[in-house]
Amino acid sequence: MDRPYLNKELRRLVASRADFLCEYCLIEEKYTALGCTIDHIISIKHGGSSDADNLAYCCVFCNRFKGSDIGSIVWKNKEFIRFYHPRWDNWSEHFQLDDSHIQPLTTIGEVTARILGFNDQPRLLERRILISKKRYPSSSAINKMNL
Ligand SMILES: [Zn+2]
Repeated sequence: MDRPYLNKELRRLVASRADFLCEYCLIEEKYTALGCTIDHIISIKHGGSSDADNLAYCCVFCNRFKGSDIGSIVWKNKEFIRFYHPRWDNWSEHFQLDDSHIQPLTTIGEVTARILGFNDQPRLLERRILISKKRYPSSSAINKMNL
């Protein structure tokens, strides 16, 4: 599948609307090792568009793990649950920062945190370092976390 072309203006809009935070794990772009990219929240393959409403600013870790997925299975009840949607959902309803862990509060939070690898060891290490340097969460991330 061809990679959709997103022009510079659209990329700038998505980045500034997100305050340069990954809209999933809320890390600030300037403190990520690999930067941020533009995510199709609902992938093209699942019918998502390249309109601003379907685009999210996303760190390379979250983007790589999410891929073209739109959700996952909650095995205890064999139910498909969609991922957290940065345009539809409030971060603080689905996640809570607990020291360096991003704890899910809902099944949407649970599948999102699991598949996007929020609490994988390298991510926790990165978050711990940023927390110790008072670079995570940023003031903008604190607002989204409703702290
Ligand atoms: Zn992220």
